[in-house]
Amino acid sequence: MIDTAALLIWFDLNERPLPWRNKTTSAWGILISEVMSQQTPVARVAPQWQEWIERWPTPADFAKASKAEVLRAWGKLGYPRRALRLHECAQAIVKRHDGAVPSDVDELLALPGIGAYTARAVACFHFQQNVPVVDTNVRRVCGRAVTGQFLQPQPSAKELGQVAEVTTGPRCSAAFMELGALVCTAKSPKCDICPIRRTCQWQKLGCPQPSEEDLSKAKKRVQKFTGTDRQVRGLLMDVLRAADDPVEKSQLDVVWPDAAQRSRALFSLVEDGLAVQTDAGKFHLPQ
Ligand code: SF4
Repeated sequence: MIDTAALLIWFDLNERPLPWRNKTTSAWGILISEVMSQQTPVARVAPQWQEWIERWPTPADFAKASKAEVLRAWGKLGYPRRALRLHECAQAIVKRHDGAVPSDVDELLALPGIGAYTARAVACFHFQQNVPVVDTNVRRVCGRAVTGQFLQPQPSAKELGQVAEVTTGPRCSAAFMELGALVCTAKSPKCDICPIRRTCQWQKLGCPQPSEEDLSKAKKRVQKFTGTDRQVRGLLMDVLRAADDPVEKSQLDVVWPDAAQRSRALFSLVEDGLAVQTDAGKFHLPQ
């Protein structure tokens, strides 16, 4: 059994002072922080989150913003579809729940853009429900500490039950997440300072190293950025966000040398509703 008492003591001493880790943070604040933190490091999220919560303190405030305002405020957090989904989510909260973020996991899951992780994180971290919250950090810590596997297989329904068994409450869930972010990291876990080392199954098994084949599979799952369509989309979005008026295609053409890739990226932005083409062939953010 994992030594959760030691984990909680460690968390009391090492918890990072993230701006949303505050007793007064609303459910909406927690929801935004969780959406922003997916696939984006918290150090980049923190200042942006602060700005958002001051500008749009409630779902109703955010629902009234235009898509262009939302995308400009999202800035360079990446994966900007998250911003549009968050906007739809706020509108649904206003319509279905009178502007109050629901506490029920199923009601949260029914909101646009809210997946299993976010729904449970809001229920757990704001509404203090003891529901399992599984992100990549928790998956990694539990995989190593409970089943002794250094690398984790793809997410499965089984892991929710496994995490529910080892977490003793909302603070324990947050502690597992923090341990994965700071100590039990993907490539080089700092086992010598780990509070649950004594009960960790991977340690008990003698720290078996993954095979070359498994390492290479895991490496392939890590998404590259440089040279990808995602990078080109980001560069095109930079131009659109900075412009007050629709831009000529020639202003977009200068951001990337490969015409085929640039055109594919631009088309995908239009398809995703992140860019709009005018009848005159210019481009702008959606309104
Ligand atoms: S002892 Fe090492 S592998 Fe086990 S949970 Fe701690 S950091 Fe992870």
